[in-house]
Amino acid sequence: MAQQEDVFKKIVAHAKEYGFVFPSSEIYDGLSAVYDYGQNGVELKNNIKRYWWEAMTLLHENIVGIDSAIFMHPTIWKASGHVDAFNDPLIDNRDSKKRYRADVLIEDQIAKIDDKINKEIEKARKRFGESFDEDMFRQTNGRVAELVARREALHERFSKAMNDNNLDELRQIIIDEEIVDPISGTKNWTEVRQFNLMFKTEMGSTADGAMTVYLRPETAQGIFVNYLNVQKTGRMRIPFGIAQIGKAFRNEIVARQFIFRMREFEQMEMQFFVRPGEEMTWFKYWKEWRLRWHKALGLGDEKYRYHDHEKLAHYANAATDIEFLMPFGFKEVEGIHSRTNFDLSQHEKFSGKKIQYFDPELNSSYTPYVIENSIGVDRMFLSVLCSSYEEQKLEGGDSRVVLHLPAALAPVKCAVMPLVRKDGLPELAHEIVDDLKFDFSTHYDEKDSIGKRYRRQDAIGTPYCITVDHQSLEDRTVTLRHRDSMEQERVAIDDLHKIIHGRVSLNSLLRKLK
Ligand code: ATP
Repeated sequence: MAQQEDVFKKIVAHAKEYGFVFPSSEIYDGLSAVYDYGQNGVELKNNIKRYWWEAMTLLHENIVGIDSAIFMHPTIWKASGHVDAFNDPLIDNRDSKKRYRADVLIEDQIAKIDDKINKEIEKARKRFGESFDEDMFRQTNGRVAELVARREALHERFSKAMNDNNLDELRQIIIDEEIVDPISGTKNWTEVRQFNLMFKTEMGSTADGAMTVYLRPETAQGIFVNYLNVQKTGRMRIPFGIAQIGKAFRNEIVARQFIFRMREFEQMEMQFFVRPGEEMTWFKYWKEWRLRWHKALGLGDEKYRYHDHEKLAHYANAATDIEFLMPFGFKEVEGIHSRTNFDLSQHEKFSGKKIQYFDPELNSSYTPYVIENSIGVDRMFLSVLCSSYEEQKLEGGDSRVVLHLPAALAPVKCAVMPLVRKDGLPELAHEIVDDLKFDFSTHYDEKDSIGKRYRRQDAIGTPYCITVDHQSLEDRTVTLRHRDSMEQERVAIDDLHKIIHGRVSLNSLLRKLK
């Protein structure tokens, strides 16, 4: 684990050094849990968004997009439940004066027990070698059985306290488990209190004062309140979906793990409207389809898992997360929720407007049910970055840091380099750039040795480097270097476009989803 933390620190440093992610307001010492994307980061982020957007709206004839405003009528957040129920339970340590999420402290405690169980299993696996039977070991080893029983009991008590919204019980669990503050090392805890995660601000100024509005904590409500507009103007027939990408804001209490938990972040959400009674079929469809979208990137199928929810939000009748193996463990990247007709019914109630669908096939009207998929752009970015990062030892004692980014997402697709800065090589290199740049993000680089230039491109994940040398002037061929294998081949300048396109286009990625 310590080693993994080390790797994570290096990834964060790399992201900054190579223009992917900077701390916000850095020259003023930063702003907690807010980040800026740099010259390479913005390209990678835009490519992730395009991959999602096109997978949703181009590959599904019945999904259209919108872009709703961040500010919305404050009653929307009453209707959605965010004013009353979008709370985290928090607890303070009197000695360190630090604030924590009570549920996260307990989840960490459960994770510690899981670690212990896994360590025992790994030890045994080494001891028994080939003949090791994990199930058998779990059942028969006294120490493991004891840990598993302890974990189950704690988990059950915790789930019940969360479901009942029982803040005293959450505190009691922290006391009984003897959880200490990681900073002060003491158990001097305050009561547990609820804390609303929405940012408030004021809009306009009237005689009666300004109106309090919220920065949206999710993009989904912008879709629900536009359901009628889109359905009518787009003549949409159920089942159909509305997709949206946009900023969301949450005043997270515990901001940590870099861009994993931010106060300002971006979501890609799609709400799919279906007939009541058909929601489970569609839930299953989207659960599978979304995982396919992730796996098509080739980051490693073993890095994903589903986490089905036991504690369902008040509006949901089924929910699952797609988790990704980050350097700090499996973590939620995307949520898929069957939200029933909760949101539309609530908006019907609070707005007084009829929000129904007349189904010509059934010859009746109803409030549609909704399947949502909701994914954080930044978390997706983090999973791509972490799984692409590699420090490679090379033959001859050399080493390199390479980002094995999925080619379609790479910020720069190819870099063109004249071997030397004379003899007409820069001119030919520029000529190649001027042709390729219409289709691919293309860099020109003539500084430093060719080896150093390759390393720079490896570090930002550029799939191809094209080197122009003296032979190029004679026969119009160049050296094409592949990022991952470092293999080089001689190819005709005229063939470059076709070769590069085959690998880096979003189109080839989208085709995998057929
Ligand atoms: P968590 O339990 O980690 O707080 P959540 O279950 O509250 O997440 P949702 O409300 O389901 O998250 O939001 C959908 C997606 O938005 C998440 O899967 C995640 O990718 C992203 N997301 C949510 N909160 C944040 C945040 N603070 N920073 C970055 N991304 C976030």
